[in-house]
Amino acid sequence: MSTPQRGKLVVGNWKMNGSAAANATLLAALIAGWRARPDRDVALCVPYPYLAQARDALGGSPIAWGAQDVSEYASGAYTGQVSAAMLAEFGCRYVLVGHSERRHGCGETDAIVAAKAAAALGAGLTPVVCVGETLAERDAGQWQEAVTRQVDAVVQRLGADCARTVLAYEPVWAIGTGRTATPQQAQDVHAHLRLRLRGAAAAGVPILYGGSVKAANAGALFAQADVDGGLVGGASLDAAEFLAIAGA
Ligand code: PEP
Repeated sequence: MSTPQRGKLVVGNWKMNGSAAANATLLAALIAGWRARPDRDVALCVPYPYLAQARDALGGSPIAWGAQDVSEYASGAYTGQVSAAMLAEFGCRYVLVGHSERRHGCGETDAIVAAKAAAALGAGLTPVVCVGETLAERDAGQWQEAVTRQVDAVVQRLGADCARTVLAYEPVWAIGTGRTATPQQAQDVHAHLRLRLRGAAAAGVPILYGGSVKAANAGALFAQADVDGGLVGGASLDAAEFLAIAGA
């Protein structure tokens, strides 16, 4: 079921890209090119080592920042992990959890993703919870089962706190492949996700679309009633492209 049009949120995911010098150029171009808009929120999720750089550059600008992963644990013997409280110390507003490159590349289960979302909320961060079906699941007509399983794990863990999250639908077959879901395919999944969230009184949660979003397709995707913005990977590394998407 559709909901009235809300403001859009556009989140860049730099993935494991960047260098101090390249980031400085990119951040300067984004700050120079982006003007605050009441109907638009923009954020960048950067690699951990560049959080201080993002904070120093973006502080006082209308662009928020965040990280790409967080530990489900608060502290202790978890070598290599980073807690939500640590991210909060760097001024992060958002953190991605359950990106498919972590679900499929690092073995993150639905339960781990839900625990990470809970940890983020506990530190005052907004988790951007990523869900999406694989190509095999799409081809087998099983996208609904796949995304339902993923979103229900978060709903069951967070209950009413789901209302404080952001959801991102990222079909795995569209990430970094240049193959984008059609606006109608995205809308169908987003409407389904919103129905699942309704059970947790969280139907107003922003639901972003991610998967080869570009300036050329962002407008048509964002025009869908249940598409509340985008999670942008590769195109977020190009200032002009990302600014055009953010303004779409
Ligand atoms: C992503 O990394 O979340 C993503 C959607 O990547 P891309 O835009 O490159 O497909």
